[in-house]
Amino acid sequence: MSKSKDIRQLSVDEISDYFESIGEKRFRAKQVDEWLWKKSAKDFDQMTNLSLATREKLKEDFVINHIAVDQMQRSDDGTIKNAIKLHDGLTVESVLIPTHKRITACISSQVGCSLDCHFCATAQLKRMRNLNPDEIYDQVVAIKEQGDQFFGRPLTNIVFMGMGEPLLNYNNVIAAIDKITGDKGLGMSSKRITLSTVGIPKMIKKMADDEVKFNLAVSLHSAINETRSQVMPINDVNSIEDLIDSLQYWYTKTKSKITYEYVIWKGINDKEIDAKALVKLCKVVPSKVNLIEYNPIDNGQFQQADDSAIDMYVKLLEQNDIVVNVRRSRGKDIDAACGQLANKTELTA
Ligand code: SAH
Repeated sequence: MSKSKDIRQLSVDEISDYFESIGEKRFRAKQVDEWLWKKSAKDFDQMTNLSLATREKLKEDFVINHIAVDQMQRSDDGTIKNAIKLHDGLTVESVLIPTHKRITACISSQVGCSLDCHFCATAQLKRMRNLNPDEIYDQVVAIKEQGDQFFGRPLTNIVFMGMGEPLLNYNNVIAAIDKITGDKGLGMSSKRITLSTVGIPKMIKKMADDEVKFNLAVSLHSAINETRSQVMPINDVNSIEDLIDSLQYWYTKTKSKITYEYVIWKGINDKEIDAKALVKLCKVVPSKVNLIEYNPIDNGQFQQADDSAIDMYVKLLEQNDIVVNVRRSRGKDIDAACGQLANKTELTA
């Protein structure tokens, strides 16, 4: 077996087979699995319930790839942004967002992103690769530890709103969530996890078929095809009609409400016709709207809409009994807010 094989790519069954092949008891695999996930061991030497000889053999045959928090920045509002170094030297970012009730981990699913949303800084990095389940899991563990260390509070929520498109790395994201929620991992509730996507209809239907239990958020930004395509090129191939069709399918299967994320930009989607289109779309399946503050990404093309436009949206949505939250940005001073993750620390290092 090649030394570079990462043991966390193996299932418990595969590790059991390995132990059998070297003349060890199969149940050793369960002990190793517990060290690898539940106890987040970074080194075989930590596995003290295995004999020294077994640990040495494991070291010969495997590695444990793990992430490292390379740089940590703290915002005036308490938000912590981590530059995370991966085993092959690439970097992603993860953010801890504290509020008085919650500690939320905002984590990445890919290195860079292949989608070209014009308002998002991550889009300026090309997609390098998908993250493995362990790399996604480790980000959560790192932020959980920071919650304990800096706030003395447990991690309460996880959002896939960092770098990348989770539905373009579906299998690994699902495998990571299984570990995050499983007894043999962190044991967190699926209800505390939100997957945010640009909205890929085929994959939304697949998630519904898989009966996933976490929450779904869709980055909508416009309910009018022409306008949405202007800011999110993915809309050219996945129209709003197809998206609606998949969301209806999702709701029928899961009975889980959808959150639409929506930024209002000056001159792009700040008119009443835009708000009315959103209201219409919100009536299709039970949903709520998060109006997100725009975080400038330096290209000057987009500007946050005036307060009067935001008020107009809120009024119209509320008149139609649609729940709407206006979300203030967190961690803006350290480029940790939505859409600002672009490995800037690395570029300037
Ligand atoms: N690919 C996923 C998750 C990453 S983006 C998705 O698109 O949902 C997380 C959220 O930040 C999305 O709602 C995205 O539309 C939003 N976002 C991206 N750039 C932003 C910016 N500059 N200001 C505010 N929100 C932004």
